[in-house]
Amino acid sequence: MANAEIGVIGGSGFYSFLDDVTEVQVETPYGPPSDSLFLGEIAGRRVAFLPRHGRGHHLPPHRINYRANLWALRSVGVRQVLGPSAVGGLQPEYGPGTLLVPDQFVDRTKSRMQSYFDGLPLPDGTVPNVVHVSMADPYCPAGRAVALKAARGRDWEPVDGGTLVVVEGPRFSTRAESLWHRAQGWSVVGMTGHPEAALARELELCYTSLTLVTDLDAGAETGEGVSHEEVLQVFAANVDRLRDVLFDAVAALPETGARDCLCVDALGGMDPGFELP
Ligand SMILES: [Zn+2]
Repeated sequence: MANAEIGVIGGSGFYSFLDDVTEVQVETPYGPPSDSLFLGEIAGRRVAFLPRHGRGHHLPPHRINYRANLWALRSVGVRQVLGPSAVGGLQPEYGPGTLLVPDQFVDRTKSRMQSYFDGLPLPDGTVPNVVHVSMADPYCPAGRAVALKAARGRDWEPVDGGTLVVVEGPRFSTRAESLWHRAQGWSVVGMTGHPEAALARELELCYTSLTLVTDLDAGAETGEGVSHEEVLQVFAANVDRLRDVLFDAVAALPETGARDCLCVDALGGMDPGFELP
């Protein structure tokens, strides 16, 4: 039986160096996840990698089936998720190559299925209950601490905390939007951070966001604005050390049964109306 305890939502650059990777296709009540799960082992921990955009990067951020992705991870045993992503820096001091571990997000997406508690029946006929989870602190405090320590251990001083603005995409922000985000004091902007953290919370998963700044957003620089090519270049230049940080974090996360964060009991005993996978 394929199983894992930790999930990493990120592309092949993170798992292609592992020995003995097993590809597993998972069905969910919400349809297929972005791709197969790729299961491997790091420092004795079983890890499931899921390419967020699908292999070949064919899914734009607003077409990703986030509900299927988190469900699929939980269904193979994952209880803690690391969510690395590329972002734009909104403040001049967060230039390309900055690693920021946010402690807040602001949702500016428009069209995404962002809850398992949407009142619609599942394919097997069960209807989810009306459940509201707390999102005041959207990220796992234990996971954040582990990620920060892992980055420092690789001589990559991270930014501890900050607000990730999640926009709908696939276009980048206008200058006006970007200036507005910056004026709010928000830190970085991306397209995939929501609804991952919210869905993870609804499934009582620990979720930690690690954001890699690949460019300064349009409002924080003076040139032409963001190009996709420059984003890819900076990501490629940093993928090796980001992988090192992720692997160290995987090794240092608490054992599934030893977690004492609030994520573990996010539903507070409320009946979701369906069985968590
Ligand atoms: Zn947690």
